[in-house]
Amino acid sequence: MNDTIPNWLMQRAALTPDRTGLETEHQSFTFRELHSEALKRAGALRKLGIKKGDRIAILLKNSAEMAHQIQAVFYCGATAVLLNTRLTAEEWNYQLKDSKAALFICGEEFDKKIPDANIVTPSQMREMAAPLKDPVEEFVLSDTAVLMYTSGTTGKPKGVMQTFGNHYWSAVGSVLNLGLGPEDKWLAAVPLFHISGLSILIRGIIYGMPVQLHGPFNPEAVNHAILHEKVTIVSVVSTMLAALVENGKGRPYPGSFRCMLLGGGPAPKALLEQCRDQQIPVFQTYGMTETSSQFATLSPEYAISKLGSAGKPLFPCRVRIMNENGEEAPVQTPGEIAVKGPNVMKGYWNREDATAAALRNGWLYTGDIGRVDEEGFLYVLDRRSDLIISGGENVYPAEIEAVLTAHPSIADAGVAAKEDKKWGQVPHAFIVASDPMTESDVIRYCAERLAKYKVPGKVTFMEKLPRNASSKLQRNLLKELDN
Ligand code: ATP
Ligand code: MG
Repeated sequence: MNDTIPNWLMQRAALTPDRTGLETEHQSFTFRELHSEALKRAGALRKLGIKKGDRIAILLKNSAEMAHQIQAVFYCGATAVLLNTRLTAEEWNYQLKDSKAALFICGEEFDKKIPDANIVTPSQMREMAAPLKDPVEEFVLSDTAVLMYTSGTTGKPKGVMQTFGNHYWSAVGSVLNLGLGPEDKWLAAVPLFHISGLSILIRGIIYGMPVQLHGPFNPEAVNHAILHEKVTIVSVVSTMLAALVENGKGRPYPGSFRCMLLGGGPAPKALLEQCRDQQIPVFQTYGMTETSSQFATLSPEYAISKLGSAGKPLFPCRVRIMNENGEEAPVQTPGEIAVKGPNVMKGYWNREDATAAALRNGWLYTGDIGRVDEEGFLYVLDRRSDLIISGGENVYPAEIEAVLTAHPSIADAGVAAKEDKKWGQVPHAFIVASDPMTESDVIRYCAERLAKYKVPGKVTFMEKLPRNASSKLQRNLLKELDN
């Protein structure tokens, strides 16, 4: 069987050259223009000595420039290493070294405390721009397109090798679920260095659909785009959704707006109910860097009857819940979520042990705990590494955090295991209070809402909680505070 696919953007530019492919606040590009921008930058990359198989790190803010650079890397047959703009110079340095990047395309605005890196800025590249004569015309499906580091919520980020095939199948799985119409326009206000943003860019090209690219998230700008600029799909995480709902009060979305794709982590129940009341079509999703975007999605018709579920697998994917003995767990029984599909990564870069631990018999063990109900709907409970075992009972920090954050005087909450002589472990709640409150207030409030073994054995008040560059709670750091 042939294991190649035409270079997406070249194919798209040949098929529908005059359609709009990308719009930003001030610019708009047809697919033909996107192709020519990529080709020019690919020529510059070649002049800089880039050859097939090299890795090129990119540290840029969401912009048309970043989109062009990513495609240019593909045109050269190289791999793009996308760096998170919110990391520190030390963290960028680690990823540059770990990936052995041959070149580092770094925006002028970033602090370049990067020793030994072969740095080039976008403006320097534009000066060298010249159409590449021999762009890669076909992508090999098993070649690594992008090396993307995980968010680093549970430890040091790992480089995920996402192949061209992974991205292609991710785009197919999504469109088989959401469908596609000639009016579709997908808004990306999530970062392109993250799979949530990158997947939109790639889908736009594969589908022949315009992508509206935003810089830093601005709820008014996103709401304006939904209300007045014919955007039909938006990808968000729950904090963005909450800001959109708050900002959009009294301005109902038009019927043409058909999908608010919500991912990245669990969403508060109260927010989902608010969206239902305001008829916002929320599709809850579950995915990870390792699966090149979501692999399970809940359609809005189940938003209430299956509240809190991440839905069912996309068409190309299978999901199983595994018990400790490596067998499939019965319905409703929690276990580790495993997933199989052509969108699952090839492995972690230079991390054979981590790859062998995660990829077993063709299945990716996600490190997340979940359960599946009688009808096959998946519920994500928590990360396996954060599970608290108290007196033999499994306690999920996320459940306690959801109760805590629903309290009007609690601005933020995190829960981690605390060693305990009697119970082995007990939940320890870390709280950012917006109004004065005491430990016994918190314990009393929890005791009214949670089974006894889930009530925190200790409460610590903090100014703020440790969160990573993607705003995800780092419970491993909370745990360390305890010991
Ligand atoms: P690291 O792997 O470095 O610790 P990370 O897992 O946070 O970081 P990502 O790949 O960005 O890195 O995030 C994927 C994780 O996000 C999933 O494994 C899961 O824990 C969480 N997640 C994603 N969607 C959901 C969801 N719908 N409900 C609950 N958790 C979710
Ligand atoms: Mg992870």
